[in-house]
Amino acid sequence: MEVFFLGTGGGRFATITQKRKTAGLRILSGRVNLHIDPGPGALVYSIQAGLDPRKVRAVLITHAHPDHCNDGEVMVEAMTGGAIKKQGYLVCAKSVLRGNEVCDPAVSRYHQGLPREIAELSSGGRFEFEGVKVQAVKAVHYDPDTVGFKVFLPGGESLGYTSDAEYFEGMGAEYQGVDLLILCTMRPRGSPLKWHMSVDDAVKVLEEAHPKQAVLTHFGMRMLTENMPELEAEYVEKTTGIPTVSAYDGMRLKVEREKEKRDLTSFF
Ligand SMILES: [Zn+2]
Ligand SMILES: [Zn+2]
Repeated sequence: MEVFFLGTGGGRFATITQKRKTAGLRILSGRVNLHIDPGPGALVYSIQAGLDPRKVRAVLITHAHPDHCNDGEVMVEAMTGGAIKKQGYLVCAKSVLRGNEVCDPAVSRYHQGLPREIAELSSGGRFEFEGVKVQAVKAVHYDPDTVGFKVFLPGGESLGYTSDAEYFEGMGAEYQGVDLLILCTMRPRGSPLKWHMSVDDAVKVLEEAHPKQAVLTHFGMRMLTENMPELEAEYVEKTTGIPTVSAYDGMRLKVEREKEKRDLTSFF
């Protein structure tokens, strides 16, 4: 499994300044080609990175905030060969499709009609396609329909992605056993923010989840000063004993099931 970090910024200010890109994650493994959380720039930076968005087989969206869903519609257009072939899957939270009391739908009815199948998932919900299993995980966030994802690939690799969520007791237990846990860690140590995760929270999640390795991403402005993401990852690794890195735009992470090799190379 390879994970391409097309964007590692998050929150309003990192997004509107593009201090870090906000294009989401691409997961590749054999024939598997998934895009998770296509924020602003997902289409552009996919193409720039040489990852043809027309080859995406599924678009996964955790909630209806722009830094996660903004490019969802154009990614669906690409996935369906320009709205011509009824193919691919859209897997997302209810708010993304139908809105709720605080969010409007993020993918239009027109675009919802394009993929081969749509899965609306709430916490605990599962969907399987082409040998890929996706499970939605509880997330506490101010879009109340937000979910995290656990993804199990046909080759046996697995990953967890917390999305935006504030810590609650037992959150990490939901991700137990994944090979790679990707944490949306908006804030550094000592800087909590309601509805979001700080590095202190990431430590708590990792101590419960015990993944084989962890990546911090989705950094807000306060995190993006003085090489803080790298220092924070060192702290997390030292504290939890779990190999941890902070993602950077263009980072490519290879996760091998057996040998658990780590290979970091830049592709921009
Ligand atoms: Zn976010
Ligand atoms: Zn959000």
